[in-house]
Amino acid sequence: NTKHQVANKLVQTTCPYCGVGCGVDVVQSGGMTGSLSELKGSAEHPANYGRLCIKGTHLLETLDGNKRLLKPVVFGQPASWDEATSIIAARMKSIIEQHGPDAVAIYGSGQLLTEDYYVANKLMKGFIGTANIDTNSRLCMSSAVVAHKRAFGEDIVPCNYEDLEHTDLLILTGSNAAWTHPVLFQRIERAKLRNPDMKVVVVDPRETDSCSLADLHVALKPGTDAVLFCGLLNYLAHHNALDDTFIQNSTNGFAEALAEASAWTVAKVAQTCDVPVAVIEQLFNWFASLPRAITFFSMGINQSTSGVDKGNAIINCHLASGKIGKEGSGPFSITGQPNAMGGREVGGLSNMLAAHMDIDNPEHHATVKAFWQAPNLITKPGLRAVDMFQAAADGKVKCLWIMATNPVASMPNRALVEAALKNCELVIVSDTAAQTDTLNYAHIALPATGWSEKNGTVTNSERRISRQRGLVEPMGEAKHDWEILSMVGRAMGFEEAFAYQHPAEIFAEHCALTAANNNGSRALDLGPLADLNIAQYDSLRPQQWPLSNTHRIGTDRLFADGSFYTPDGKANFVAITPRLPEQQTSAEYPFVLNTGRVRDQWHTMTRTGNAPRLLKHIDRPWLSIHPVDAQVLDVKDGDLIKAEAACSGGIEVILPVKIDDKQRRGEMFAPFHWSATWGSHARVGALLNGANDALSGQPELKHGAIKLSPVAMQ
Ligand code: SF4
Repeated sequence: NTKHQVANKLVQTTCPYCGVGCGVDVVQSGGMTGSLSELKGSAEHPANYGRLCIKGTHLLETLDGNKRLLKPVVFGQPASWDEATSIIAARMKSIIEQHGPDAVAIYGSGQLLTEDYYVANKLMKGFIGTANIDTNSRLCMSSAVVAHKRAFGEDIVPCNYEDLEHTDLLILTGSNAAWTHPVLFQRIERAKLRNPDMKVVVVDPRETDSCSLADLHVALKPGTDAVLFCGLLNYLAHHNALDDTFIQNSTNGFAEALAEASAWTVAKVAQTCDVPVAVIEQLFNWFASLPRAITFFSMGINQSTSGVDKGNAIINCHLASGKIGKEGSGPFSITGQPNAMGGREVGGLSNMLAAHMDIDNPEHHATVKAFWQAPNLITKPGLRAVDMFQAAADGKVKCLWIMATNPVASMPNRALVEAALKNCELVIVSDTAAQTDTLNYAHIALPATGWSEKNGTVTNSERRISRQRGLVEPMGEAKHDWEILSMVGRAMGFEEAFAYQHPAEIFAEHCALTAANNNGSRALDLGPLADLNIAQYDSLRPQQWPLSNTHRIGTDRLFADGSFYTPDGKANFVAITPRLPEQQTSAEYPFVLNTGRVRDQWHTMTRTGNAPRLLKHIDRPWLSIHPVDAQVLDVKDGDLIKAEAACSGGIEVILPVKIDDKQRRGEMFAPFHWSATWGSHARVGALLNGANDALSGQPELKHGAIKLSPVAMQ
């Protein structure tokens, strides 16, 4: 009937989970105070064309109001927003007066929208005067960021999702896309069905579900990825598979990179990676002989003490063979989080300024200072995630504001994180959930809006900006993160700079900053969006940056003309000396621990844990053990086993055993989602020591060293 038709409205938004960034259509009945129904994938969204994975499909089931934080709580007492933000501003000012601006820090999240990230960065880096703002994206893709900057001069992902469907060889390395980026995996499945000649290679120590598509599985020894790709570079040089013209005209440093890789013969690669020679030869032969290749890489590459070098070892192979800037070719870093890319655009890591500008570049510094009218613009980088918690534990950071993340459960070295939070004078936690492991340490808890209430933009792994649109009014007294930050900024005396009333104003300001004094020297250019009004922002269609005057409708692929964003326009090869993981096994801690995601859960389960259907696939954590190791340890399926590491500081991690011959011997796998909030002893982050890549600060989450002992059943 007419009344029903008027009441129902289709709202297009974006899934808040992984970096695929799928478009979602939701039927809203009765406006922002009504109800939601009929959620499905947006048929025209270029990331997913109507598909959704199971997490996206069950989004509406995660919106449980009973588990939400609904009102600010200040030192255990309910408070108004004015009280809470005034107290935060006063406390922060007092700490800054006594100890300087570097005594305050923000630890944010790739869940934040670009507008939230922008305001947080502007407040900290421009007005408070510290670069101590980092996020859990440091744990996700910061190694790829540095690898991109070293090779291309800017943090740029050259490819797009269509390329995955138009390649001859797809190498999935350090990625179980079937579980972690399911919609991209579905697209790859379809592409392989259409083109049975397309080769798929999975490089992973474990035989994951992604191997269902693999023509070849390279089950390499954990941590030897750089060896594999150095060996590939050497192979290309010896098998007439170099693009000499491209190397000559568009790159620097090839001779040095090849000299460093020249020791890695196929035989030596096979021996070091612990993989049969024939398997290595097959992979190398396909890469050398097939015209197009994509190397799709994710956490298994990035979460390493040599993650940056691994990224550059991959990029080197694409530069050497000219497999970049062309349809179906390129190194393709896939982000874990929904807005890891958007956060980078506004300078969301402690070593960045804003709009892909650099802290140590005087011209960039002057541009941002003038644009923001910033009284205290930073002149040096701030603390990276692990270092931030170390500084708090050491008493150097006195105030830590945690937004949209649960570091007690998700960071490595839980003992350090807990010591840091106990030691801080002021811990502020902004979250949607009423209960997390981290909220236990909050002096001030602030209710933030969640996915169905937020209004802003996110950028996915292929540089595509999409709108997240509010579907319902904020629950309780929840506020948007940009609003909370703006209130605190105003309460600290920065009224004019944080007078925002709508996210469209913030987005327009961000876009204008990307265009300020750019002169074509940076790829991140959103100039054409800088004049959007609220109505245009509300109807913004998904589009890929760069969006400059020459690319007004967006850019699907970069580097097609062989020019890069370095001073001389050429890409850089990086000479790589492979290094092994820092957390090595020993006689006392003889087993390797690998951690990762399961298909139907997200991070520490504060949302997906609310949907019973998402627990049907896997409803409890486990530790995978090879059958031979299980025999030696005298455990069987379902037995409990205690895991300890040198860094675990007395925290007991007890997991049920899952005997799994898809593991290599001596190597264990455990999912990281379950935490104390879920009533388990499965806090696997406690078993990883926080060792990180010196270049990127990204912690090693794929290679711990543990000992195991069976737990006697009562
Ligand atoms: Fe959401 Fe990622 Fe699944 Fe798409 S693939 S529906 S973005 S979780």
